[in-house]
Amino acid sequence: MVGIVIVSHSKQLALGVQELAAQMVQGQVSLAVAAGIDDPVNPLGTDAIQVYEAIASVFSDDGVLILMDLGSALMSAEMALEFLPPEQRDKVYLCAAPLVEGTIAAAVAAAAAKNIQEIITEAQGALVAKATQLNFISIPLSEVSNQSISSAKVSTQEIRILVRNRLGLHARPAAQFVATASNFQSQIKVQNLTRNTEAIRGDSINQVATLGVRQGHELLITATGIDAQAALAALQALIINNFGEDDSIIQLPTPRTEVSDLNQGELKGIATSGGIAIAPLVYFQSASIPVMEYHIENVEVEWQRLQSAIQVAKQEIQTLLSHASLQIGDAEAAIFDAHLLFLADPVMLDAARQHIVEDRLNAEVAWQTVVEEVANSYRKLEDSYLQERVDDVVDVGQRVLRILLGNLPTDLQLSEPSIIVGTDLSPSDTAKLDPNKVMGICMTAGSATSHSAIIARTLGIPAVLGVDSQVLSLDSGTLMALDGESGKVWIAPPVDILTTLEAKREAWQIAQAEARLKAHQPATTSDGQHIQVFANIGNIADAKAAINYGAEGVGLLRTEFLYLEKTSPPTEEEQLEVYQAIAEILDNRPLIIRTLDVGGDKQLPYLSSLSAETNPFLGVRGIRLCLEHPQLLITQLKAILRASVKNHNIKIMWPMIATLTELRAAKEILLQVQSELRQASIAFDENMEVGMMIETPASVAIADQLAPEVDFFSIGTNDLSQYVMAGDRTNPKVATLADALQPAVLRMIKQTVQAGHAANIWVGLCGEVAAETLVAPILIGLGLDELSVNPQAIAPLKQAISQLTITEAQAIASVALQQDSATSVRELVYPIG
Ligand code: PEP
Ligand code: MG
Repeated sequence: MVGIVIVSHSKQLALGVQELAAQMVQGQVSLAVAAGIDDPVNPLGTDAIQVYEAIASVFSDDGVLILMDLGSALMSAEMALEFLPPEQRDKVYLCAAPLVEGTIAAAVAAAAAKNIQEIITEAQGALVAKATQLNFISIPLSEVSNQSISSAKVSTQEIRILVRNRLGLHARPAAQFVATASNFQSQIKVQNLTRNTEAIRGDSINQVATLGVRQGHELLITATGIDAQAALAALQALIINNFGEDDSIIQLPTPRTEVSDLNQGELKGIATSGGIAIAPLVYFQSASIPVMEYHIENVEVEWQRLQSAIQVAKQEIQTLLSHASLQIGDAEAAIFDAHLLFLADPVMLDAARQHIVEDRLNAEVAWQTVVEEVANSYRKLEDSYLQERVDDVVDVGQRVLRILLGNLPTDLQLSEPSIIVGTDLSPSDTAKLDPNKVMGICMTAGSATSHSAIIARTLGIPAVLGVDSQVLSLDSGTLMALDGESGKVWIAPPVDILTTLEAKREAWQIAQAEARLKAHQPATTSDGQHIQVFANIGNIADAKAAINYGAEGVGLLRTEFLYLEKTSPPTEEEQLEVYQAIAEILDNRPLIIRTLDVGGDKQLPYLSSLSAETNPFLGVRGIRLCLEHPQLLITQLKAILRASVKNHNIKIMWPMIATLTELRAAKEILLQVQSELRQASIAFDENMEVGMMIETPASVAIADQLAPEVDFFSIGTNDLSQYVMAGDRTNPKVATLADALQPAVLRMIKQTVQAGHAANIWVGLCGEVAAETLVAPILIGLGLDELSVNPQAIAPLKQAISQLTITEAQAIASVALQQDSATSVRELVYPIG
């Protein structure tokens, strides 16, 4: 029998509907509820995982019907379908029927053993009885009152209303308008009377936005359908309430910021990657994607392909939306709501479908054509704010194209050396930057330990993140300067500042060159203690850079970058090729390969369940994910073991261990893989060392129990700091809190070193703090045996070590441990001023 899922923002409402329906059918039908969210303060909401679980609880081969209330209920239900295996997904249907009447009609039909199509028809006709009883009739438009909503019994109604909010129907209000209009069954049409436009569809974001509605314009909104009155009332309320905008605090996104507004052109952000950059700014934007046109035979398959790509794009944007609300605030992040609406725009979708079905165009060309048409309609507007929405349309359009074409990474084509400016860069975007063209990075989101920041340092590109969003409203080509060490950014700097910065840049380059000359010698303190200086790398090019810059080995190979730029996990052979190439470059130097560490801010598009987590950094990340998907780990371990022959010095390192059980489970899988290889007579290094990262507070607390089970520890302070200090490493607002120099974190490093040394294993550190050369005395004083940093930082770090004695370092470390804040720890080692 068909099962039914009720999705609502309100748990009480859903339970009430469930009770009513269950009573009608005497409990014969399986009815599940997915409603409300787990937030005691604001329990109204929907959650895709809950919907997924509800589907699973009533699933049978006869199918499942989902009934939803409004807005995000639909989105959560759509997302839940993505989590289902395809063979189940095909049997689950979303139903457009009204929640109460539809659920009851569906339950009755299901109890009568009707098939799912019949049940859908019954549910969708569920309002007919009510409408007939209420003597529902149609009245021509001309008879309807002009000023207000008239009779409740008419099918077509209209209102005229003035738009009073300051910016009119700009992206956010337009998105709210469309979302509200889409909540009703009635067809909504809107006309801008002031501009004398045609009536367009109210559920199309692009048509609504291109009406060019500004403050003071008069709209004519008509609604045709059984809930016309309610629809118009909701839209009227939205407009009367100025779309929730408080005009006294509204931030005008349109005007270009004058330099004088920007605090004499100087802004402060988070110092992320050292060095000075002076160049014109260019906004970060993906390059156009080459698309080939071809004739298609199976139109339905092609249409499905486009729809699936749109679904994936929606998920990506949803993830972006939740990250962005944290990093740039809800108001600014709401722009992504508009992106979601572009993807749901029925006019765009109909047009794309038409190109596929009638013109037999492939999905890429059909989609690109429609996106270009919409972008052009924005370009033609007089309104400069709305013209800027072209970027949003193009951005969303390209996201879908990239997915259609196998998740092509974004690319940046620069004609001259520039500083790139934007909201955020994904790790894969950053990894593709050309350091010869990208002189500097200036982003409004991000923090010093985000993965994009780490890559920027590896590439040696000066970067300042977490900069005020004013930088997003400057003219492209404006001269900009930034100092990645002090975290300062200057817009159109005056001559005196430029001269100072140029001198600093020169001094920086000379110091780097000097350090590089000595970088190939081992790092030894002036009283003779050797500290191993290794490199953190993410690919073959980094490995070459590491050796060139004087690395004694690789302390951390972040293997996740092999997985992130693909649409499916890399095969054993693909991985083997990369590990072998890196091992060849390193020869017999140590190469520590960390097993896959995704989750957190590194999401795998093909493991879509990852994006559904509310707190990805506290979710199924690192070793947890690999233990849940052992096949991923087995494939990777095989590749690592196979690369370990021929006198290479490969070591394995587990990420994110929090319990002994996890460590033992991972080691058990390794033992199984080793025995399989032995049986297949495949050679590998039988004496390979196996270590683990210390990056959870739990692992520090039980370091004495973990140490006897591994050959080394490497402390990941990027994560350890965020978990110890409860401060998200990607959130600039808590960047000073999640600092590895917090005394709490330093004490954890000390505790780990003591536990490691007591068990006779070496202890290294591969978090970003190791690259802060001025901090080296503290880290060495805490007893670390190895420091692993981005290749660019090796030379200065070695130089700093050579200027130290162990006794001095220990003295500084013991003072640091007693400080009351990270700021006072910094004051110990950083020059004043
Ligand atoms: C760390 O957490 O410090 C670390 C080195 O790992 P990642 O930055 O890749 O999480
Ligand atoms: Mg980590």
